[in-house]
Amino acid sequence: MSNVDAVEIEKFSQLAHRWWDASSEFKPLHDINPLRLDYIERIAGLSGKTVLDVGCGGGILSESMAGRGAQVTGIDLGEKPLQVAKLHLLESGKQVEYRHIAVEQLAAERPASFDVVTCMEMLEHVPDPAAVVVACAKLVKPGGHVFFSTLNRNIKSYLLAIIGAEYVLNMLPRGTHEYAKFLKPSELAQFCRNSGLSITDLSGMSYDPLHKTYALGKDTDVNYLIACRRD
Ligand code: SAH
Repeated sequence: MSNVDAVEIEKFSQLAHRWWDASSEFKPLHDINPLRLDYIERIAGLSGKTVLDVGCGGGILSESMAGRGAQVTGIDLGEKPLQVAKLHLLESGKQVEYRHIAVEQLAAERPASFDVVTCMEMLEHVPDPAAVVVACAKLVKPGGHVFFSTLNRNIKSYLLAIIGAEYVLNMLPRGTHEYAKFLKPSELAQFCRNSGLSITDLSGMSYDPLHKTYALGKDTDVNYLIACRRD
């Protein structure tokens, strides 16, 4: 289990008890969830699909996909977020299978097993994101869909995602994100193509600080989503 940064896992574990508090550090994940859920549903469909959510954390996206009729497995390397995710099922009554396993290991165990693989806001926290993309590509069935979201790397994303979100608006704890780990869409697209995935869509998720709302659109400068299909 080498493709993991213990400091990153610890960061999320420390905050895990507040995962489902929509006014906590996890507010941005709660706020963007309906947008990404609809995006996935529109492109891949969810009802009756087997879905793997990689780096699922406390399960915000996993549960919502289960709510749309998908059979969801969520994996993460943080013990605490997974405990929170499992506990929350008792409250929500949803069904998700949560497992503490590295994506690379699951790819060796169950290749070509899922109709849809999602990996959201996680690549910017791992040492070798390309290896995660390879594993996700292995896990999806041929013709299946893979979705990634992460942060772009440029002056604007530095100013908005780090200075703005962590230092000015205090939306995220300081040190949540590290600029050097951000990925340009072109870089992520290259990882995807190298793994046998074809890009079917690239969309942005932008934040309007005045209205405190997020929108899906063409602006991929800061946060973006990439949709791919396995060839
Ligand atoms: N995907 C979820 C959570 C994003 S937070 C969502 O968008 O709602 C990032 C998550 O990635 C945390 O839960 C953290 O524990 C997990 N993570 C970080 N490094 C990881 C790794 N190497 N393998 C698996 N999960 C990892």
